[in-house]
Amino acid sequence: FNIDIPANEPVFNYAPESAETKELKEALRQAKSETRELPAFINGKRILEGEKVSVHPPHERSHTLGHFYRGTTEHVHQAIEAAANAKQAWADTPWHERAAVFLRAADLLSGPFRARMNAATMLGQSKNAYQADIDAVAELCDFFRFNAYFYQEIIKDQPLHSPKPTWNKLEYRPLEGFVLAITPFNFTSIAANLPAAPALCGNTVIWKPAETQIYSAVVIMELFEAAGLPPGVINLIYTDGPEVGNIVFKHRDFAGLHFTGSTGVFQNLWKEIGNNITSYRSYPRIVGETGGKDFIVAHPSSDAEQVAVACLRGSFEFQGQKCSAASRAYLPASLWPSIKERLVADMDTLKMGTVEEFGNFVNAVIDERSFDKIAKYIDGEKAKSTSEIIAGGGYDKSKGFFIEPTVIVTTDPHSTTMEEEIFGPVLTIYVYEDDQWEETLKLVDTTSPYALTGAVFAQDRQVINHATRALENSAGNFYVNDKPTGAVVGQQPFGGARGSGTNDKAGSPLNLHRWISMRLIKENF
Ligand code: GLU
Repeated sequence: FNIDIPANEPVFNYAPESAETKELKEALRQAKSETRELPAFINGKRILEGEKVSVHPPHERSHTLGHFYRGTTEHVHQAIEAAANAKQAWADTPWHERAAVFLRAADLLSGPFRARMNAATMLGQSKNAYQADIDAVAELCDFFRFNAYFYQEIIKDQPLHSPKPTWNKLEYRPLEGFVLAITPFNFTSIAANLPAAPALCGNTVIWKPAETQIYSAVVIMELFEAAGLPPGVINLIYTDGPEVGNIVFKHRDFAGLHFTGSTGVFQNLWKEIGNNITSYRSYPRIVGETGGKDFIVAHPSSDAEQVAVACLRGSFEFQGQKCSAASRAYLPASLWPSIKERLVADMDTLKMGTVEEFGNFVNAVIDERSFDKIAKYIDGEKAKSTSEIIAGGGYDKSKGFFIEPTVIVTTDPHSTTMEEEIFGPVLTIYVYEDDQWEETLKLVDTTSPYALTGAVFAQDRQVINHATRALENSAGNFYVNDKPTGAVVGQQPFGGARGSGTNDKAGSPLNLHRWISMRLIKENF
């Protein structure tokens, strides 16, 4: 059994009238024609009990997609028990059988599950067809396949000297206990990978998704089941976060947290885990990807058109709801008129609307809370004499949570929207004088507590080299002459440092190592 290095799953472009478009439209029609009951999954059993909550497409508030049932504390206890019961058999399953489950999941996802999965991500999280396919199909297939390959490469490794008569051996065991995955709404692939990566390594997992991603999370559980994942290995529950934490973080068998979400929540969880540290059998592994205030900085030697395109795509694709999305840009005065002209012209062509009419670039943001928060940031800048809105600025939540992609130009490099994470389609630009390049690099580095992604644009090699050094701690994923988004598994492992996370790069061997607890065996013979 040998897994070759995988190729990235190709993305469908959903051309009008193509067979794939027809199939997807049919899946959308089907999903909208029914109201789904969205069960929790504990030990493979579907559970529909607790407070009933309805789920609506963010772009069509009046439509009901289904209901989930907010779980009780009992569900947390049951999920812990299920994970404990499933553990030994799963850990003892030969690694290639565990890997085969996820490889099969990838094949099902790229084939028979594709349309359903995309329809669920489009309707539940308001992504257009192309964005859904990049996320819920291509990236998730890549996570499954590359992780299986990386795991194989890790366990092959026996870098030990064994002088006779000794035999030294490393055993790659899962952690002792269970792992908790707390997952975000913005990427179905990340939501699924956070439980899947520890599970591949032989761990059993409790998966607590964002409430706004439950509609596609249920399809992921159906996919795991169809691929042959045994019951109890991944348990999906909808109990409120604090109640889950209260039980899990006091449990002796809590062995690890795999988290993507906000910096504040992650820091609080870390504190809670710290406060309970004497309760655990092992030191829990804590892996988190959190906030960002991702930048674009262009040197006077850069290509204005390239910068304008990166500002648009890096800031507004996926409604800016990416941890990696650019939200502050530092552009040189000499290039600003041409960058502005191109950016504003391109922004005029962006179509906003529901995901079911194909061809809309801008869709709704995830929910009312996000909408209100983003709108408040835009209003805050409207009221400032130092800021000017040069594109967008409008918003409307009457039918769905629509916010126009908004470009703010500020003369204050410390304006609120230059500093705080917004997580929406808002880009703030500060135009600097060409001779202030060094000072600008300092501003980029010191303006935010985050260090997730960033991009530098320049044609001059010396400048690129210097900026790459000067900003070495400013971004875990650093892009030269490209937008700071769109990391591809197997090509650009993804993760940030400082306030942005533990930088255990998703889709890399490093991440898998965190879910493995090595045992060394020395035997004399
Ligand atoms: N990996 C995605 C990218 O590179 C972003 C993931 C996220 O938003 O957390 O754009």
